[in-house]
Amino acid sequence: MKRRVTKQRELIIKVLENNRTHPTADWIYEKVKKEIPDISKGTVYRNLQVLLEDGVITELNLDGILARYEEKQKTHYHFKCEKCGRVIDLDEPVLQGINERVAKKTGFKVSGHQAEFHGLCKNCQ
Ligand SMILES: [Zn+2]
Ligand SMILES: [Zn+2]
Repeated sequence: MKRRVTKQRELIIKVLENNRTHPTADWIYEKVKKEIPDISKGTVYRNLQVLLEDGVITELNLDGILARYEEKQKTHYHFKCEKCGRVIDLDEPVLQGINERVAKKTGFKVSGHQAEFHGLCKNCQ
């Protein structure tokens, strides 16, 4: 049983490694189902939660409706297309020192920041 759980998680990580498109849980489920046909949606969702808690993956909540997931990487910024909804990683330098600045100003304990640019992707212009 343990082995099986591990295999499911490995597969989810593999799916995210191969798809840098910030897929939704449903999309991940469809991919995982191709390799483990009897897996349930609930199982995939639960495994995503475990991977989140373990800090292996990141959850993006860009539109506030559907969470999207990606393998945990260094901080990077995103561009979201307002027409097709694609979320693209940006190769932009991350603002240095901003976490510390915010922490100092507010007294909050800052663990990170995200930035999202939006507009129309090349295909949608
Ligand atoms: Zn687009
Ligand atoms: Zn990303």
